[in-house]
Amino acid sequence: MYRVTLIPGDGIGPEVAEAMKQCIEKTGVKIQWDEQPAGEHAIAQYGTPLPERVLESIRKNKVAIKGPIVTPIGKGFRSVNVQLRQALDLFACVRPAKYYEGTKSIVKDIDLVIVRENTEDLYAGVEFDLGTPQTQELIKMINRLQPKQVREDSAITIKPISAFASERIIRYAFEYALKNNRKKVTAVHKANIMKFTDGLFLKTAQKIAEEYRGRINFEDVIVDNMCMQLVQRASFFDVLVLPNLYGDIVSDLCAGLIGGLGIAPGANIGDEIALFEPVHGSAPKYTGKNKVNPTATILSGVLMLRHIKENKAADRLESAVREVIKEGKFVTYDLKVNRDDPSAVGTREMADAICRKLG
Ligand code: NAD
Repeated sequence: MYRVTLIPGDGIGPEVAEAMKQCIEKTGVKIQWDEQPAGEHAIAQYGTPLPERVLESIRKNKVAIKGPIVTPIGKGFRSVNVQLRQALDLFACVRPAKYYEGTKSIVKDIDLVIVRENTEDLYAGVEFDLGTPQTQELIKMINRLQPKQVREDSAITIKPISAFASERIIRYAFEYALKNNRKKVTAVHKANIMKFTDGLFLKTAQKIAEEYRGRINFEDVIVDNMCMQLVQRASFFDVLVLPNLYGDIVSDLCAGLIGGLGIAPGANIGDEIALFEPVHGSAPKYTGKNKVNPTATILSGVLMLRHIKENKAADRLESAVREVIKEGKFVTYDLKVNRDDPSAVGTREMADAICRKLG
């Protein structure tokens, strides 16, 4: 019996989390779910969207899976998702993007894995708001220290990229490639413009690539060029390693390439703890409507099963998902050619169809 922390989350979270739980249970793997509230619901009850008990549960169980959690834009609380990754030092965000027959994927020969640095870069949370004394002091200092002048009416976000975090994520990407029979790591950056921060990331990648020479191929690609190449020839890529912001954006691009957010799973990995979650957010307009695709969360469950070494159950569940999508009968609106197709089923019905395939 495994113990896994389950955070249903906000919006469509509880519905897709329930679907995932049902499918995992159907594989026969015995899991005791330690359900924990986080996000909007938790604020009312605990005065914070991330109660300490959630972190304690994850630290104890070491494995967690979550639905999406709302982040109010521009005000209120910091992103719970970012806080979780930072508090638990889940430094690697791993997001596979692969083709399943029957999806509206615009590329068919895609099978790559995104490894995104999760703890620093512009997501580190070092921000200075417009007009505060701290911001004014910082701007004065910046303008004194170097010739490029920052306007006084600026807000500032700091982009720290460290040698430590770069080395850790790049090494993780190479090790992931080795363990998963992948052939190539591509480092994605903008070192031509951000010579120091992205420059450090690139130099670190080049240094570590030397250690894997002859076992794993290496190349680097500038992020804007990467976006174009992904659309034109995604099959050329295998494992991508990126700093935080580019990783976030390129993940959504790849989710789009494989047929939408509804089928894009993810994992946040640390030295000891792993937290699985779909790439998509809480899609508030669909809350409680039994409408959205549970696949991204179910496939996040597949990644979780692989993580706890229940590989057979993981393969069976992935095959069940693959078959249901290929048949195209019991699928949600986003997998239909026409999104208004009245034959689309709901979240629960798609999960039921996947469970039926599991026997
Ligand atoms: P979103 O992913 O919630 O939704 C964007 C659109 O994608 C939806 O309107 C819907 O059309 C589609 N979509 C998303 N999930 C789907 C699914 N399972 N099946 C079918 N279609 C699906 O993005 P958003 O609207 O930018 O964000 C809403 C909220 O979610 C925000 O508060 C944001 O901060 C949060 N968010 C959380 C996470 C997370 O918890 N990791 C990730 C992204 C966004």
